Amino acid sequence: MFSPDLLKGRKILVTGGGTGLGRAMTEKFLTLGAEVHICGRRKIVCDETAKELMAAHGGKVVAHGVDIRDAQAVDHMIETIWETGPLTDLINNAAGNFISRSQDLTPRGFDAVANIVMHGTFYVTQAVGRRWIAQKLRGNVVSITTTWVRNGSPYVVPSAMSKSAIHAMTMSLAVEWGRYGIRLNTIAPGEIPTEGMSKRIKPGDEAGARTKAMNPMGRVGTMEELQNVATFLISGGCDWITGETIAMDGAQGLAMGGNFYQLRDWSDDDWTKARDSIKAQNDKDRAKRG
Ligand code: NAP
Repeated sequence: MFSPDLLKGRKILVTGGGTGLGRAMTEKFLTLGAEVHICGRRKIVCDETAKELMAAHGGKVVAHGVDIRDAQAVDHMIETIWETGPLTDLINNAAGNFISRSQDLTPRGFDAVANIVMHGTFYVTQAVGRRWIAQKLRGNVVSITTTWVRNGSPYVVPSAMSKSAIHAMTMSLAVEWGRYGIRLNTIAPGEIPTEGMSKRIKPGDEAGARTKAMNPMGRVGTMEELQNVATFLISGGCDWITGETIAMDGAQGLAMGGNFYQLRDWSDDDWTKARDSIKAQNDKDRAKRG
């Protein structure tokens, strides 16, 4: 579908590029000739991904251990990347999310999602955009959101609010920065099973099972589909698309609205089990980060 050198000469930052969808997009950009930088809080995970992808495909993947909630650390990472030449593209993919009844959320739980998704995404976008503007460089920003930006979603309200903020940022900056040749778009995927996502759903639920049962096309999304849309958006094939959100969900958002409405049938016991399992997973992740 794409010529093998399509992204030669590009230098792309994929936040959260060490795992899941971010890793898949990193791999695609690498195979099309780009130099790719990835970041995550767990540097060791990014290091392993960089090593594995370079061993499989050659090229250059650079890992950064950075928490995007820390604006100063973000600026330092971008400055370091810029020392060897400017980025050409930014993929805002890093996020956190967990299901909870909204009445059970603590301020800390709300901030855990909002600080990554809303604040962190802005810090990275601004640190990159500021430099593009100062140096009169064009650039692309693609953010990974969800279809809930259009209609909200129960049981993931901090994520729905924060992804909507990215949607608003995308529309706003497409207008404000269009004059500099900076484009911003978002991709709103439906379910594409990843380890990160399935860790935070109901214990015992098979990844993708609920989507398969309800999706108009009867299936979940694939990494390849996401890789192709992301590549197209930064390819230069249609630079007049900006400020857009492209849903990639087999029309599930149109058919069902949010993904989690069915959870209204859960019992108190189901919610307790889900909360305990999410907490155990968070403790494990925290221990890995040291
Ligand atoms: P994932 O594997 O958990 O990816 C999240 C990535 O973000 C991880 O690599 C994580 O690395 C990084 N991250 C989280 N907090 C961070 C922080 N504060 N600073 C830097 N990096 C951070 O999940 P995924 O399923 O691939 O999701 C990727 C994106 O797709 C997210 O934006 C998600 O909302 C979106 N999405 C996914 C689906 C799906 O079905 N999978 C559907 C719709 C939208 P560390 O933990 O090491 O920091």
